[in-house]
Amino acid sequence: MALPTPAEADQVIANHVRPLAQEVLPLVQCAGALLQEDIHAERDQPPFDRVAMDGISLSSQAVREGLRSFRVQAFQAAGDPPAILADPAHCIEIMTGAKLAQGCDAVVPTERVTRRGDIAVLDEALVVEPWLNVHRRGSDAREGARLLAAGTILRAPEIAVAASAGRPRLRVAAQPSIIVVSTGNELIDPGEPILPHQVRRSNTYGLVSQLRLRGFSRVTDDHVVDDMAVLQRALRLHLDTHDVLVLSGGVSAGRFDLVPKALAELGVQQHLHKIAQHPGKPLWFGTTPAGVAVFGLPGNPVSSLVCLARYVVPALRAAAGGVPRPPDAVALAAPVRVKSPMAWFLPVRLARDGQGVLSAEPRPTNGSGDFTSLVGTDGFVELPPGPKECGRGFVAPFHPW
Ligand code: AMP
Ligand code: MG
Repeated sequence: MALPTPAEADQVIANHVRPLAQEVLPLVQCAGALLQEDIHAERDQPPFDRVAMDGISLSSQAVREGLRSFRVQAFQAAGDPPAILADPAHCIEIMTGAKLAQGCDAVVPTERVTRRGDIAVLDEALVVEPWLNVHRRGSDAREGARLLAAGTILRAPEIAVAASAGRPRLRVAAQPSIIVVSTGNELIDPGEPILPHQVRRSNTYGLVSQLRLRGFSRVTDDHVVDDMAVLQRALRLHLDTHDVLVLSGGVSAGRFDLVPKALAELGVQQHLHKIAQHPGKPLWFGTTPAGVAVFGLPGNPVSSLVCLARYVVPALRAAAGGVPRPPDAVALAAPVRVKSPMAWFLPVRLARDGQGVLSAEPRPTNGSGDFTSLVGTDGFVELPPGPKECGRGFVAPFHPW
């Protein structure tokens, strides 16, 4: 039977990953979170005719009737209740952000006025139209208008807009609790003594870091040896205590690739095992009846990082209610030849030409175990199955680390 393509695997994962819970957080803790409610304008935006320059406010009608000098009647700072113009021959000295003084309909900036005591004289050439330098009430948004839609990522402008709508707290997708579990007898942590036939447990550190960099903060890790009883005991506990398990290693065809069997015996239903892609072909995915998602990433270091960026991060984004967004596309800076009849995830470095236009420089690795070649890369492009020539300028989806 033909293996699923990456796009088919996306669909299978999307069909089975359960939406994340929601939580209500103080606004200052919402940066980077996915909004789970619509936010409406508390008042008109701006909420009043807002003075847009420091200067004097006056009646434009008086200027049209020939008046060029005005008695400064009062001083009004931002936050002061509006002054009331007592006479069309008067003006109010007024600051940016103030509510326009009553009886005024224009603001002349300080730079266009000469002061002689309490008399303000307008520059000769200055034409004063109604609403000059006034940010009219409701001109940005009307009270009740939807300012933010559920599914929006809360970055600086969105947080500021939520604050302007008077919201001290927001309903956002809860952070999933994620555990990254490496499997393998050969793996030794950095800092521990190591024998010639052993290898450093490096994947876990990369995977945990990548999750953190992509905004997931509740991430822990564990290491389990290739022993069925030990593996099952550890996985049972992790399934009980986490929303997402990201396993690395143990999903290929070797005698000690025990992960699929261990998970099956713990009641995790398999939805995917092996995808028509290189690297990362052995990828495994399943869920428990309680909704825990389990991603079994192949242990080869390039494969595990690629599969995390290609499948796990987007799936968690979608589970958080994020508006689906196709990957960015980039053009290859140099031709490549796709040999494999499966999709090829080719690491690339993004480079700028003289005009600042981005393109992707291929950075092929020496096989899926060679993660030293990933240093300095920005992510990978997804090339279609070969055999095929992809010329310079070939446009492909780009997945960032
Ligand atoms: P596996 O998928 O368990 O067959 O592992 C494939 C290759 O990846 C083997 O060479 C492993 O030693 C290596 N590997 C597995 N897990 C890790 C890890 N956490 N860190 C570094 N290498 C790993
Ligand atoms: Mg292994």
